Amino acid sequence: MQDRDGYIWLDGQWLPWREAKVHALTHTLHYGYGCFEGIRAYETANGPAIFRLDEHVRRLVDSAHILAIDLPVDRATLSSLCCEAIRRNELRSGYIRPLVFLGAEKLGVDPAGADTHVMVAAWPWGAYLGGNAIKDGIRVRVSSYARHHPNVQMCRAKAISTYANSILAVREARRDGYDEALLLDTEGYVAEGSSENVFIVRDGEVLQPETTSALDGITRRTVETLAREAGLTVRAKRITRDEVVCADEVFLTGTAAEITPVIEVDRRRIGTGQPGPVTRLLQQRYFACVRGEDASHTAWLTPI
Ligand code: PMP
Repeated sequence: MQDRDGYIWLDGQWLPWREAKVHALTHTLHYGYGCFEGIRAYETANGPAIFRLDEHVRRLVDSAHILAIDLPVDRATLSSLCCEAIRRNELRSGYIRPLVFLGAEKLGVDPAGADTHVMVAAWPWGAYLGGNAIKDGIRVRVSSYARHHPNVQMCRAKAISTYANSILAVREARRDGYDEALLLDTEGYVAEGSSENVFIVRDGEVLQPETTSALDGITRRTVETLAREAGLTVRAKRITRDEVVCADEVFLTGTAAEITPVIEVDRRRIGTGQPGPVTRLLQQRYFACVRGEDASHTAWLTPI
């Protein structure tokens, strides 16, 4: 990632990509305290546009607030930096990564005295779970690691430290030959993927976990709206692992993963073993929105 052309915004300056560096004693590098966002820009008939930028920026500000980090930039500035990251890097589509971290001004667990730093980068990023994942679906393993309890780490924040848990889970899944992990909460109910929310479909009803352990995903909320608009019932409930296995359809949602069908969980086939009709319908509607082809949802797009 470090050896590319382009520009990265770091603490008030657009730096040449290779020069956007931090010191080895950066607080966040040692203790993992900070937060970030993952945002996508898509190619539309009117040029690149960022999908649900306001919601992502809002979540970043909320994440910083949860972590009691004072942001040196406001929401409007963060939004315009995200747009500028696409523009400066001459991207037609891409992934935008704003990051808030604490600097090398001091070390020790208590960050008092460490400055808050902000970085925004953008680069092209294809299908997060591999080339055919969105079309053909993926195989998932229920993780041996539980998702964070909300009192271990407040789960509404997209905090950097949450991802140690995600990394343990995804590495375990891949080591065992699966594509992705599905994490349960500390009570044993389904929470989310390592970087995606999860939905199941049973008898035409779309169900999502009623859990406080999962990230409040923006794609999840988009899918909820699109499903309701398609006349489907969407409900949140506690979901058990066996309900996932017996679902007609299972799919994961995330900015990076978009809508990825799950065709197998723990070596048990889901439904027919192919991406199902509800998943396909929601994929079609989602991709129409992000590409600006759905006139009723152009407000979700910020043109660059
Ligand atoms: N859960 C986790 C742990 C994630 O990292 C992500 C990706 N941000 C999601 C869910 C999905 O969230 P969103 O749809 O907002 O990208």
